[in-house]
Amino acid sequence: MKNIIFVAPPAAGKGTLANLLKGKYHIPHISTGDILRSEIEKGGKYAEYIKEQINLGKLVSDDIIFELLTERLSQSDCDNGYILDGFPRNLKQAEAYDEILKKLNKDIGYVIVLDIDKEIAKKRIIGRLNCSNCGAVYNYMFEEMKPKKEGICDVCNNLLKRRDDDNEETFNKRYETYLEQTEPIIKYYEDKGVLYRINSGKGKEYAFTEIEKIINQKELNSD
Ligand code: AMP
Repeated sequence: MKNIIFVAPPAAGKGTLANLLKGKYHIPHISTGDILRSEIEKGGKYAEYIKEQINLGKLVSDDIIFELLTERLSQSDCDNGYILDGFPRNLKQAEAYDEILKKLNKDIGYVIVLDIDKEIAKKRIIGRLNCSNCGAVYNYMFEEMKPKKEGICDVCNNLLKRRDDDNEETFNKRYETYLEQTEPIIKYYEDKGVLYRINSGKGKEYAFTEIEKIINQKELNSD
């Protein structure tokens, strides 16, 4: 199994799809957003700065991201592949990631762009709740995504939490940041021949099936 990178605007379904892929391929889901939120919770050396940047919808400095990510990718559970969500987010990170891969002797794998309409993404953000324990995602704006019991995870019975940056104002800023800084990396990966695009507005089952097709096709060709 190879590595998978998601490139997507906020609320395109990166977290949900990563969870599904993790279940199927038994590889870890590494989200730079989660790594940063856990730094804040642990009160790590960069905690205050990271919190401020996240709440403003701005990117955290590249150097901090490189340090935290290299440390995480060096762990042995990444040896057979991983799903990277939230990184790279700009061209400088994409170039640095090539260096990190070289250093760790890893392959780029698949870069999957999740395309989604801005208004659908906004609705997903405003209603989103995450399980504080298992990471399952729910949404009050969509009937089929509501938890069975209000505020409680269907999977593990733990409390659901809303992220501080899941509000309309921060969403608009995050979306703008995506267009300005993250979209340019699409061309970078297109030129390397590792880019795939999926319409993520058609629901998670559709997107998941499309990703499975890409992986099956590619693994067949490399046999
Ligand atoms: P996410 O959970 O991917 O939506 O990320 C939440 C926030 O964490 C972003 O809005 C950024 O402030 C920060 N963040 C996550 N990943 C990165 C990254 N690769 N580079 C810089 N900042 C990041």
